[in-house]
Amino acid sequence: NLERLRQLQPCLWTLPRAPGEERAQVLLYGSAPLLVSMDDKVLEQIANVASLPGLVGAAMTMPDAHWGYGFPIGGVAAFDAEQGGVISAGGVGFDISCGIRCLRSNLNLEDAVEHFPQLGKALFRAIPAGVGEEGEIKLNPEQLDQVMHGGAHWAVQQGYGTPADLDYVEEQGRVAGAIPENVSELAKKRQRGEMGTLGSGNHYLEVQVVDRIFDPGVALALGLHEGQILISIHCGSRGLGHQIGTDYLVLLAKAASRSGIHLPDRELACAPVKSPEGQQYIGAMNAAINCALANRQILTHLTRSVFTEIYPQAELETLFDVSHNTCKAETHQIDGESRLLYVHRKGATRAFGPGHPMLPERYRQVGQPVVIGGSMGTGSYILVGDSENPAFASSSHGAGRAMSRHQALARWKGRALVDELAQQGILIHTRSMRGVAEEAPGAYKDVDLVAEATEEAGLARRVAFLRPKVCVKG
Ligand code: 5GP
Ligand code: MN
Ligand code: MN
Repeated sequence: NLERLRQLQPCLWTLPRAPGEERAQVLLYGSAPLLVSMDDKVLEQIANVASLPGLVGAAMTMPDAHWGYGFPIGGVAAFDAEQGGVISAGGVGFDISCGIRCLRSNLNLEDAVEHFPQLGKALFRAIPAGVGEEGEIKLNPEQLDQVMHGGAHWAVQQGYGTPADLDYVEEQGRVAGAIPENVSELAKKRQRGEMGTLGSGNHYLEVQVVDRIFDPGVALALGLHEGQILISIHCGSRGLGHQIGTDYLVLLAKAASRSGIHLPDRELACAPVKSPEGQQYIGAMNAAINCALANRQILTHLTRSVFTEIYPQAELETLFDVSHNTCKAETHQIDGESRLLYVHRKGATRAFGPGHPMLPERYRQVGQPVVIGGSMGTGSYILVGDSENPAFASSSHGAGRAMSRHQALARWKGRALVDELAQQGILIHTRSMRGVAEEAPGAYKDVDLVAEATEEAGLARRVAFLRPKVCVKG
């Protein structure tokens, strides 16, 4: 890759245009070792994104980027509706509003470790995980509409968690502009039994310990200290989001062709934000975002119940909940001018810097918490948004895959991995050993490199490194 790229800064690269190639600039964030091993398909995909109408600035990839459907995962692209800008289902991702809720506890490793085996079993019993696994909650169509409008607020009203949680969920737990009527009956039907479930594969509920603090001042503001137990819940909008993605790919492809948008790859299906189809998708996507926010709120409640059963003194507070598959209408300063942009973040986390008005009071001074998942065997990071963020306030969301699921399956056996991790004091609970092999720690990039490059690139600043202890894998 490096021969094709030009280095602008230690952690910033560009892909020069070929003669006659008409597109916006491409910027790739990351250090040389990350870019050397990044799949070529990422470059091709992000160049395609840069050719879409109404793109503002550059099409960007985060340090954890890898190949995805149409858009790379770890891709960021902002469009201006007034200049023919588009909305793309592939630019949001199929698991709409997939994200991570992070909880901080008042437990320390030394008080908690003895009961980890019991905790793991109890979490595995309480948290429905795996393909098509349903939960206790069955919703009728009217209730599902309430979820799509109410998000995490709906969940709190139903007794899942507390109003205090909502302050620490992006958008205070609910986005405006959800239109359940734009969601197909099939999508709704798929969701009826899937509220409060984790999903499969890459999704997880992990008990973690703060292993290292990078910035003591910010850690204090975030309520983090060494040895503390945290819980991260990674999941999204389940069947509803996936079905919306599938439905709208077809509709948006038609709209693109009608609007005369040339698609270098049909997976980039998109429509002008201002077209009826574009608006229709945005209404459906917002419904799915609320669904994901409600889902993580329910799982937070289930997690609390299990913790207090095993550790009666346990108190779990929401540190933050951030989505990494969204398109959000946001105001950004472009060359000193305030502009409303549709920022697609696919496998990329929003990362507002210090002082941003949308941040809760508690984090206003230090910036928004950013969560980077790593793998069940290595670790994860908590960072905060950087005031100088050059990427429409976006950051990495994970380590990012280094190889496909298929390649991972050929290389690892689930059972052996679970035994190996147990030797290291990491307890894995899963219904799918195949899933574990696909998610082998070695199938992901080096999370330390990703977090370091994220900081070096000015996207977000490291606060804490977390080690996995108990992981319920989807
Ligand atoms: P994605 O939503 O793109 O599938 O995943 C987000 C990130 O979560 C991945 O890039 C990966 O680094 C991380 N991840 C996947 N599985 C696990 C896990 O079991 N535990 C932790 N801590 N991180 C994981
Ligand atoms: Mn997901
Ligand atoms: Mn995700």
